Amino acid sequence: MASRLSAITHGVNTRAPPFMPHSPHTLDDLKAALLDIQHLRDTAALLSWDQETVMPAGGGQARAAQLATLQTLAHDKLVSPELEHLLLHHIDPTTGLATHHAAGLDDASKALLRETWRDVTRARKLPSDFVTRLGHTCSLAQQAWVEARRQDDFVQFLPHLRRIVDLKFEEIDYMGYTDSPYDALLDGYEPGSTVAQLGPLFAELRDGLIPLLDHVRACSSPPDTRMLCLSYDQGQQLEFGKLVLRTMGYDFDRGRLDLSAHPFTTAFHPTDVRLTTRVFETDLLSCLFSCIHEGGHGLYEQGLPCELYGTPLGQPLSLGMHESQSRLWENNVGRSKAFWVYFFPLLQQHFPVQLGAVSLDDFYAALNTVRPSLIRVEADEVTYNLHIMARFDIERAIVERHVPVEDLPTLWRETMRDYLGIVPDRDAEGVLQDVHWSLGAFGYFPTYTLGNLYASLFDRQARQDLPTLDMDIQRGHLLSLRSWLNQHVHQHGRRYSSAELLHRITGHPLSVEPFLSYIRTKIGEIYGFSCLPGFPLNTLRE
Ligand code: ZN
Repeated sequence: MASRLSAITHGVNTRAPPFMPHSPHTLDDLKAALLDIQHLRDTAALLSWDQETVMPAGGGQARAAQLATLQTLAHDKLVSPELEHLLLHHIDPTTGLATHHAAGLDDASKALLRETWRDVTRARKLPSDFVTRLGHTCSLAQQAWVEARRQDDFVQFLPHLRRIVDLKFEEIDYMGYTDSPYDALLDGYEPGSTVAQLGPLFAELRDGLIPLLDHVRACSSPPDTRMLCLSYDQGQQLEFGKLVLRTMGYDFDRGRLDLSAHPFTTAFHPTDVRLTTRVFETDLLSCLFSCIHEGGHGLYEQGLPCELYGTPLGQPLSLGMHESQSRLWENNVGRSKAFWVYFFPLLQQHFPVQLGAVSLDDFYAALNTVRPSLIRVEADEVTYNLHIMARFDIERAIVERHVPVEDLPTLWRETMRDYLGIVPDRDAEGVLQDVHWSLGAFGYFPTYTLGNLYASLFDRQARQDLPTLDMDIQRGHLLSLRSWLNQHVHQHGRRYSSAELLHRITGHPLSVEPFLSYIRTKIGEIYGFSCLPGFPLNTLRE
């Protein structure tokens, strides 16, 4: 998960712009004003990181108030007459397009203005006091969620969740929408995305995944995964996670790795990018893949242009694009055979007793096992997207007011049965498993599946552009891929829209085909589907 409080908590006033005569403001004046706002946001993000990692429990109330103050200050500066005046020198407020003052600017500067205008326009829809209430409520709710999950007690979390959902209804009213109220929230995480766009895309993906899952279920000899659940020293697990991160090119001079209840990445500048993970003695994959996943987020943040820090061009494009980076490293790379040709002997050196007699092929098959499970972050590549679609349906049912908040545990169980055929016994493994709703992040989940789809497009293109990539990965040379991502994705910040960036890189629009082709090929090989009647072989080799 990429933690971006600033993306969640823009705020506003609704005063009319003051009339002020144009003066010769430069873009540098605007950048300086934006830098102040970024400093406030990143200070708030640092307090959030502290809250989720090392803050004593007693500090919760005070921290909620501190965060709310900083978020409100950042919001008030973003909608201030001073910033508006700087912006109106370059932007026509009725069209959002550049004025004649901006005519001589280069394309990057015009993109900076366009994205700043978008931020200000969105922020102006939210009253300042709403931003304060949302920030305060979410900080307390996040702390309550940790305790409710620990005690497996949804009722304890329910009052917090009610307050958050009410605030989300309020936010939707401020933001406005055309078709679904869910669109108003989705746009904050994946600009331009709508239910009308995602619905058919997800349906097509589901139609491709369910037959694949049926074939996996019919397989009589699934991979043996017992070696993944032996006793593994937690310190050694963390050391191995750091080794993988260093090999990926994650710079520990500009970052660090800590523990938290829910793994996440947060950044205060490209020179200070922090990852968290969690580690369990009898689950080898949890720490390992959360390190790789968060490492993908971390490389994106470390790859943003320092000289544009504070401006939209120094910020990640969208949550979906952020997830594309984490999921590409976690799955397309981290669960590939080539990756483990290099890393498995090193892992065996860390754990000779547990893995010394295990073959590379058996380990590779084990970590790609497909099995419907309750916890999203630990789901395999086939069922992961079904978890996301389940949440997409559940969130829409809440946001479109079809289901009251208190019925969420029931709705959760019914939806999981529909998508994955399994039902949690405990809410801690069901409706309470993820931090997102306690942070007010309704509309975030679809970005995970978008990230998977983007990742497969990028993976396919990178392999065309770098013909030796697979050999590089087998040798532990991961920097060629990091550099490719730096060049094609990271350095651009928010200069292009997601659709534009995809087209610039791959020449293609978003589709489910590259992901389905990739996953059918991989899982078909591991499970030997060619033995099964009815599985179309041509779809395995697209
Ligand atoms: Zn993530």
